[in-house]
Amino acid sequence: MWTMEKLMGIRLSHDARRVEFKDEVWRLPSPDDVLEWFKLFRAGWVYSGDPARAHAILHSGKHSNGFFLVKRLLSFGNLREIAAACMIAELRKAGLGKVDGVYGSPYSSILLAGDIGRLLGVKTFVPEKDPSDPKGKKMIFKPDDPAPEGSVLLGIEELVTTFDSGEATKAAMIAGNPYPVTFAPIVGVLVHRPPEIVHALPDGRVIVPFIERQVDAWDPAQCPLCAAGSKAVLPKTNWAELAA
Ligand SMILES: [Zn+2]
Repeated sequence: MWTMEKLMGIRLSHDARRVEFKDEVWRLPSPDDVLEWFKLFRAGWVYSGDPARAHAILHSGKHSNGFFLVKRLLSFGNLREIAAACMIAELRKAGLGKVDGVYGSPYSSILLAGDIGRLLGVKTFVPEKDPSDPKGKKMIFKPDDPAPEGSVLLGIEELVTTFDSGEATKAAMIAGNPYPVTFAPIVGVLVHRPPEIVHALPDGRVIVPFIERQVDAWDPAQCPLCAAGSKAVLPKTNWAELAA
C-alpha cells in the first residue's frame, strides 16, 4: 500500500535496478504501482469502466475517461529517477541498443530525459521551444554543443497523446545539429494516453510506453460514459469519487 511517506522516502538503488525505503529493498515499481502514485498526488486517474463510478469533466468542459498531470509526480527528483529507471527497463526489454545521447521534448520531458541520460551514461541534449513561435509548438536545437556526426539519439517523452511535440522536437534536432545524426528505433514514453492505442510512429520509430491507457474526451451530449449511467464530476472538488 503506497502512502505519501513512502513516496517521499523511497530512493533508487545505486545499481538502478531496485528501490530502497529506510532499510528495505524493493523491486522497481510496476505500471500499476506508478498509477497509484499518480492517484496519491491527484495527478492522474483512469476510469475503471464501471458505470457506478464517476468520470471527469475537463477544464475544456468535455467529459473524459482519464486525466494525467505528469509534472506533479516528476517534480520530485527521487520519483523522477525511479520513473527513469522503470522506462530504461522497458526500453531494454524492447531491445534498446547502444545510444550516444538522449533528448526530451521541451520543456516537460527535459528533466526526465536528463535522468535517463545519466543512468545510461550518455549525454542529454536539450532542445528548446522556439521563442519566435507564440504558440510554443515549434522547437529549436542550438548548435553550440552539438551531437557528433553519426550519433544515435534516443527520444524521451513524459506524456504522449498525439506525438506532435515529439515529431517537432526530432525535426529540431535534425535541423539544429550541424552534423547528421540518427535516431534509436524506439521512443521511451512514461505515460502513453492516446485516443487509440498505436505504437508505430509515421517515421518508423515505435513507442515503448511504461504506463499506457486509452483516454478519450467527448462533448457532454455525446459522452458514452454519461449514456452508460456514470456521473460526471469536476476532478478538483471530487477527487475521492474519481480515484475510488
Ligand atoms: Zn459524461
